Amino acid sequence: MIRQSNHITDAFGRKHDYLRISLTDRCNLRCTYCMPEEGVALRSKNEFMTSEEVIQIASAFVSLGIKKIRLTGGEPLIKKDFNNILHQLSRLGVEISITTNGILLHKHFDSILEAGVTKINISLDTLKRQKFNLITRRDYFDLVYENIQNSLLIFDEVKLNVVLIKGKNDNELIDFIDFTKENKVNIRFIEYMPFDGNNWRKELTVTQSEINNILQLNYGNKIVKLLDDNHSTSRNFKIEKHLGTFGFINTITNPFCDSCNRIRLTADGKLKNCLFSSNEMNLLYPLRSGKDIIPLIFKNINEKFRNHGGINSFEKDSHIYNKNRTMIAIGG
Ligand code: SAM
Ligand code: SF4
Repeated sequence: MIRQSNHITDAFGRKHDYLRISLTDRCNLRCTYCMPEEGVALRSKNEFMTSEEVIQIASAFVSLGIKKIRLTGGEPLIKKDFNNILHQLSRLGVEISITTNGILLHKHFDSILEAGVTKINISLDTLKRQKFNLITRRDYFDLVYENIQNSLLIFDEVKLNVVLIKGKNDNELIDFIDFTKENKVNIRFIEYMPFDGNNWRKELTVTQSEINNILQLNYGNKIVKLLDDNHSTSRNFKIEKHLGTFGFINTITNPFCDSCNRIRLTADGKLKNCLFSSNEMNLLYPLRSGKDIIPLIFKNINEKFRNHGGINSFEKDSHIYNKNRTMIAIGG
């Protein structure tokens, strides 16, 4: 028997009030860890949510107690109707935030501010142009860097997402932390995660003890541990006298499943109750045929696994995450 209430609570009593909506599975970058080399198969436009459908589904979630919506992708800013979607979502009375690669930000600053968005997450894995080109397979470093600098002037809160990969950018850990000296930014070092087609290997992840050694060596007792919010996915720190802060999101080695409050809606209108779960509930087609999608939302959330979408070991259970989508098709 599936419980019905005004809130989206799973079988383990976790209340879900944070919805991440992927607006598109397309992108203007080709990050090696996110998108398979061969790209993502083109699908008919009809398979994806229209702007109106995004708003309809988001409204259903808000009626169930969703308090925060993050727009992501693929790259959310390449969605044709982005400004209109943002404007309409801003009327739902919930906090809106955006995760972007930053390339198109300068074209959207005004509409983002008008929608009342005060916080933004921008992804940047390296402070070096050449390496940026290697990681993203595109040449946009200068533009992204400039948009980050302007975002720091415009928004109340700017977070930089850095996926740490051994042998690729782990030697820039200190450069990134030094960036917090003069910049009021929160840098989030994200553990490299496995998805279909991204050639993940455990050896490519940088362990927290390796990171701690580097931090100790460089900053010693100047490292200050900060208090983390209840649902925070990162453990946060700062260096004495630095304006900015930094944190670590270790989804695999230090999971935050116990306090998980997130649900994902993919660009093709499927509800995913966990980043790592391949159990998806199609909300778009029932919506199009006039069905009530709320019982479907409850059903899917009720089936949510306690940890990592049912994956016990990322090394042994690759058959499970290989059945999952690529990160770009999930919506990070
Ligand atoms: N295009 C936007 C961006 O890059 O910020 C939003 C979508 S992207 C999928 C969202 C976040 O997921 C980015 O910060 C990206 O670095 C992160 N990400 C993608 N693949 C990942 C992986 N395999 N492991 C860890 N983080 C990943
Ligand atoms: Fe695009 Fe973001 Fe994935 Fe990079 S991480 S390919 S920018 S969706």
